[in-house]
Amino acid sequence: MLAELDLRAARLARDFPILAQPTSRGKRLAYLDSAASSQKPQAVIDALVHYYTHDNANIHRGVYELAERATAAFEAAREKVARFVNAGEAAEIIWTRNTTEGINLVSFTWGLQNLRPGDAILTTQLEHHSNLVPWQLLAAKTGAELRFIEVDPGGHLRLDDLEAKLRGTKLVALSHVSNTLGTIVPLEIIVPAAHAAGAVVLVDGAQSAPHFPVDVRALDVDFFAASGHKMCGPTGIGFLYGKRALLEAAPPFLTGGDMIRQVAYEDTSFNEIPWKFEAGTSNIADAVALGTAVDYLESVGMAWVAEHERALTAYALGRLAELESRGLTIYGPPERDQRSGVISFNFADIHAHDLATILDTEGVCVRAGHHCTMPLMEKMGWPATARASFYLYNTEQDIDQLLEALQKAATIFHLK
Ligand code: PMP
Repeated sequence: MLAELDLRAARLARDFPILAQPTSRGKRLAYLDSAASSQKPQAVIDALVHYYTHDNANIHRGVYELAERATAAFEAAREKVARFVNAGEAAEIIWTRNTTEGINLVSFTWGLQNLRPGDAILTTQLEHHSNLVPWQLLAAKTGAELRFIEVDPGGHLRLDDLEAKLRGTKLVALSHVSNTLGTIVPLEIIVPAAHAAGAVVLVDGAQSAPHFPVDVRALDVDFFAASGHKMCGPTGIGFLYGKRALLEAAPPFLTGGDMIRQVAYEDTSFNEIPWKFEAGTSNIADAVALGTAVDYLESVGMAWVAEHERALTAYALGRLAELESRGLTIYGPPERDQRSGVISFNFADIHAHDLATILDTEGVCVRAGHHCTMPLMEKMGWPATARASFYLYNTEQDIDQLLEALQKAATIFHLK
């Protein structure tokens, strides 16, 4: 890969204190599991400490200085997220706990309000459970039919029958990037086709927003959900983007304090968006720190993050291919421009869990299992895969360490 990209990534890695920590076996840490959760730069850790040290109070209600400062920081973070995904306005960003909650919010509000027997929900065969189970339940509750865009053995979506599948479809819910295959889903084809068929589009952006520039207005998606913890932010905070008209027309999700305008014993009128969807005391500190994570990502530059991950993925694919003759199989689209920095693989007949355990002894963190995509694994006929995933702080050195650890596994398992 290009030396400058790698050098900058190595410099950026120093912003993440956890990466400097050796393992208990004294190995250098090669963290290759950012698709599960990213590490946090010092600036984000400091933002949490700063908030609790200087600004903490409940928001929106207090008239004193601390409460005003907390409210301002919370709403400023919302504006940062809105700019980050190019929403039309901050009111279109709802704070959630994570991607899962954002998707459920749409299912329980817009979904229950709009779906009827005879309607269809169209999703894909490569979805994470969090973009599948809510639609199974919604279909059961409303009598709608659940349909799937198929995935081919190479990890691409089969779009040849898209038009037929869109007939009668009210909602298309799909990932931007597959967390198991690394496939980048061609939203530029699917979204206009869905809209032409009169469907609303929800995108699970858990694996895209952290890794390349996302412009919800250019993509023209109706809802877009993501998780802070995968984009250098804390756990427990995420966001849902929704177009104003859709959010305004949808009923509230959870109910209680803060989401109201006027409450009488008999009935209640609701607050305006986004607060209509934010019942109870919000996760203020983590929202503020997610704002800092967005500042950090913007200072690095999302275009740079994307370029770096492309180069690193190409390097990793090249190095992993060295082991193909010993039985290593790489999954996902072979076309480099159709995949992100997620590589699932198996090594001969070594179970993915055993492989990940051996890699761990060498300081290499990879995930193994079904990656919350059990139906996809079943369809592909893989009991489990190992998965290495990259972020802005990963370098060639991490990949080389992965290769050395895989070679060690080959020796332990007496692979030729
Ligand atoms: N969708 C995709 C594609 C994911 O990769 C993940 C996390 N692995 C999720 C949804 C769920 O994210 P969270 O657990 O943060 O809600």
